[in-house]
Amino acid sequence: MKSAWLFVGFSCLVLMSTMPTETRAESDFKVTLLGTATPAPRPNRFGPSTLVEAGGQVLLFDAGRGVPIRMGQIKVPVGKIDVLFITHYHSDHVVGIPDVWLTGWLGPVFGRRKEPFHVIGPTGAKNLMSNLEKAYAGDIGIRVIDEKLPPQGIAVNAEEFKKDGVVYEKDGVKVTAFEVDHGDVIKPAYGYRIDYKGRSVLISGDTRYNQNVIKYGTGVDLLIHETAIARPELMSNLFAQAIIAHHTSPHDVGRVFAQTKPKLAAYTHMSFLSNEKVSEPTLEDLVAQTRETYSGPLEVGEDLMSFEIGDTVTITRWKQ
Ligand SMILES: [Zn+2]
Ligand SMILES: [Zn+2]
Repeated sequence: MKSAWLFVGFSCLVLMSTMPTETRAESDFKVTLLGTATPAPRPNRFGPSTLVEAGGQVLLFDAGRGVPIRMGQIKVPVGKIDVLFITHYHSDHVVGIPDVWLTGWLGPVFGRRKEPFHVIGPTGAKNLMSNLEKAYAGDIGIRVIDEKLPPQGIAVNAEEFKKDGVVYEKDGVKVTAFEVDHGDVIKPAYGYRIDYKGRSVLISGDTRYNQNVIKYGTGVDLLIHETAIARPELMSNLFAQAIIAHHTSPHDVGRVFAQTKPKLAAYTHMSFLSNEKVSEPTLEDLVAQTRETYSGPLEVGEDLMSFEIGDTVTITRWKQ
């Protein structure tokens, strides 16, 4: 945008003094999908993780597989994460935590965390983190002595919550947790809403069709929702039945989008089921089934796709 205006400026020198140099201020509220998959190992879709940058704060929502690699690609040091928020304790959402926590403490430019690692999650966060501290005590002890890394940078500050409400508020950035329905035994399970300067983003977490998502998501600027999809031929398989029962079909996500009417609706955590005989549904299938119930703005998320939350929501795809 800047270079386009400069070009216009050079070609119309007389007008330049009266023209704005930029069409609008860049938003300081940005969301980047670091990983848009599930436990499925895919080279182009890493584990579930979403980065929110708001007013200079760096907030990470879930730490799936590969977070430091994706953050390295966008040149945001993993050591700069202010808070990690956890939606629930399925392994795909937390398996990257030791990587984020330990790598963010190292000496190179991607690390250098000097303050304790701040984690906020539903009941279970303290247990998870204290056991990670035990699991990696050897590495931590060595690096404190050998590399002189600051012990306070690898310390953990874990906070837990048990019900819906504001779980973080600092310098105008507010994060609200709300319970979702990921199945009868998958508890606790939460989604998050982030509010900043009158704008809002909702991350569904893993959930079935759920009224609480609609309650907290109504009118948000950006609503990021999970989904799972399988061909009908696969549905005789028990594993497919179990997975589909714990997530929201595209048809039902469309209902959520239609009721909440976000400025932009986007998919992440897309579970495309298959087996040796039945192939995965396609992205076109996903969109077509969403369109059965929703006709508004829709984006199928990709790793490193980012969204600037301003007067409008601007989408940027990752280019190598
Ligand atoms: Zn998941
Ligand atoms: Zn899950």
